Amino acid sequence: MKRMFNLILFGPPGSGKGTQSEKLMARYGLKHLSTGDLLRYEISRQTALGKEAQNFMDKGQLVPDEVVIGMISSALDENPDAKGFLFDGFPRTSAQAKALDELLKLKKAPIAAMLALDVSEEELVKRLVKRGETSGRSDDNNEQVIRARIVEYHNKTAVVADYYKQFNKVVMVKGEGTIDDIFKRLCKEIDKRI
Ligand code: ADP
Repeated sequence: MKRMFNLILFGPPGSGKGTQSEKLMARYGLKHLSTGDLLRYEISRQTALGKEAQNFMDKGQLVPDEVVIGMISSALDENPDAKGFLFDGFPRTSAQAKALDELLKLKKAPIAAMLALDVSEEELVKRLVKRGETSGRSDDNNEQVIRARIVEYHNKTAVVADYYKQFNKVVMVKGEGTIDDIFKRLCKEIDKRI
């Protein structure tokens, strides 16, 4: 792998992006950039950015584009030697997708593929409610907030797949089954492109 290899792991809340990201970064040595994790870290430190983000996250709404784009831009700058990046939970709007393309253009390292996890809505809600019992994430504790996140996904995030479809970069992967089955499906697609 000479050139930087960048991937987007895409899918609705609860589709398993975080779980699969852990396994993918271990296998491929990619730097994992999860905007959800970065935002929760800002909240835990009670930074100004974290406090602003929390108001949106508590309601199940997306955090404003300029906030997450700035965060990703800094993260890219902080990792100049990365072999590649695995974007998880980003981009989530068309504006974020365009901003990411511009940032990666500067690095001459485009997105190789968007791997999109496909999971039914009832399975999503089931998983998120279950995760809420143990994760300590307040946005998983409340079914109304969970439903709001899924609505945001359909209204603002699903179109991001259309953006990458015009460049033939979207790969649909079945996101149901065991964690290992799904991981194998993802690896098969990545190995074709790496
Ligand atoms: P999930 O996808 O399971 O809901 P995440 O950790 O990816 O979990 O995101 C949690 C919350 O963080 C989202 O509901 C949203 O409020 C905020 N968030 C994360 N990533 C973004 C993003 N790229 N743009 C806007 N808001 C984001």
